[in-house]
Amino acid sequence: MAKVVVLGAGISGHTAATYLKRYLGKSHEIVMVSPNSNYQWIPSNIWVGVGLMTPDQVKFKLAPVYKKLGIEYIQAKAVAIHPEGDSQSDKGYVSVEYVTGENTGKIENITYDYLVNATGPKLNFAATEGLGPDYHSYSVCTYDHAAHAWEGLQEALKKLEKGEKQTFLIGTGHAMATCQGAAFEYALNIAFEIGKRKLSDLAEIVWISNEYEMGDFGMGGAYVKRNGYITPTKIFTESILKEYGINWIKRAGVYKVEKGKAYYENLKGEHHTVDFDFAMLIPGFAGAGMKAYDKSGADISDKVFAANGMMKVDADYTPKPYEEWKASDWPSIYQSGAYENVYAAGIAFAPPHPMSKPMESPNGTKIFPTPPRTGMPSGVIGKIVAENIAHQIKTGKKDHPHKASMARMGAACIVSAGYGIRKGQAAVMTVNPIVPDWEKYPKWGRNLHDTVGVVGTAGHWMKLFMHYMFLYKAKAKPFWWMIPE
Ligand SMILES: Cc1cc2nc3c(=O)[nH]c(=O)nc-3n(C[C@H](O)[C@H](O)[C@H](O)COP(=O)(O)OP(=O)(O)OC[C@H]3O[C@@H](n4cnc5c(N)ncnc54)[C@H](O)[C@@H]3O)c2cc1C
Repeated sequence: MAKVVVLGAGISGHTAATYLKRYLGKSHEIVMVSPNSNYQWIPSNIWVGVGLMTPDQVKFKLAPVYKKLGIEYIQAKAVAIHPEGDSQSDKGYVSVEYVTGENTGKIENITYDYLVNATGPKLNFAATEGLGPDYHSYSVCTYDHAAHAWEGLQEALKKLEKGEKQTFLIGTGHAMATCQGAAFEYALNIAFEIGKRKLSDLAEIVWISNEYEMGDFGMGGAYVKRNGYITPTKIFTESILKEYGINWIKRAGVYKVEKGKAYYENLKGEHHTVDFDFAMLIPGFAGAGMKAYDKSGADISDKVFAANGMMKVDADYTPKPYEEWKASDWPSIYQSGAYENVYAAGIAFAPPHPMSKPMESPNGTKIFPTPPRTGMPSGVIGKIVAENIAHQIKTGKKDHPHKASMARMGAACIVSAGYGIRKGQAAVMTVNPIVPDWEKYPKWGRNLHDTVGVVGTAGHWMKLFMHYMFLYKAKAKPFWWMIPE
């Protein structure tokens, strides 16, 4: 009997664990280690942040689902991996710390035959002074954060209703933050809600971003087909912001937030401030902060993880100038570069380089987005990691028949821009491939047949449909595996 341990019950890890169980059945053991007792459908946190959904609508308890499927669930966080075992045994193990109940703080070692690290991002609020829900800005990165943001937003809306002017600052809260799409979506939803209440005259909404141009979204921008015309995402995004009455500050690295004031440096090296009444700023992302040790107990974290704490996999991490970046630098099987029975799926794997061109201010501050790993690639990667591990366990072979490079796969992103069956709107963008491939597509970097952008009510219906469909799948209801990632 083989034992596969998955770390992190998010989009990627939960996908990996459920497919592993489906492929391997009762003859093998699947263990999930994750600190939060709930699964959350993160994309719908945007709607929690504007009061259109409650946290209960975007989350559910993991334990009953894992019990039904026969997956062992340990509510704990992984703190260290020991891929070579120790002086007692050669078997790899992971040290986990219990985070609830009478065992809180207790460390336990769990051995594995295969390990999948799907611990997602650490929300690194500490990298920006004064940032985050404990200090002076809101976040929508978790359902709790989003519910808290909705409380703050209601206060600002009440002030608007009383005739007081309010400034809403939405965007990235660190010079190298990613996830612009989520912040952009939140800005559009706030604008829609204010417009619905006929209060737009009193509200100023400001989008602040580390992008060189609007529409970069951490993927170096894209050319999309729109109404038959080829349009850069810069134009696509700016036209949406204009339509929603949102002004923007670009090339900005926020480095400090105080009550009502954000400080930023721009690519010219200038320092500015922007005042706000309500701010939602996405933090920088880092790896979960696990350590790695070899058989002798020596710290080998540098060998296993990149400097940002994300796990190094089958990518080409050789430092290269921007002009030499290639689609083939990107990983396709997500196997650790150091240990063949360890994999990293979703945001947990270290990208070989950014997709956006690196930019630096004259003061040496790097101001550009790091690469996003959205839900669709995170789910697909979780699935192929499960397929490859199941294949190896069943056949005893060491090959990887399933591959999913972000430089070969497409992705769809739906940015909701208002809620309601008749009045709802969304911007739908599909890109193929996610990482531009200038060798294969020298003119546009991507295949323009599949790289499109449209705005409309149908997109809103799709986003709402995806909310229910993906929660259905994550709850492992009948025929869940037939729903694509
Ligand atoms: C507000 C918001 C809106 C978004 N909207 C969209 C969208 O519309 N479309 C889209 O495609 N993508 C969207 N995304 C991105 C999407 O949510 C991510 O791509 C996806 O969640 C990444 O999956 P993951 O499994 O890598 O990480 P997560 O989903 O973050 O899961 C990581 C899991 O690991 C657990 N964990 C953390 N530390 C440890 C540890 N030490 N040990 C064990 N477990 C640990 C966490 O508790 C969590 O369960 C959005 C993101 C945000 C923040």
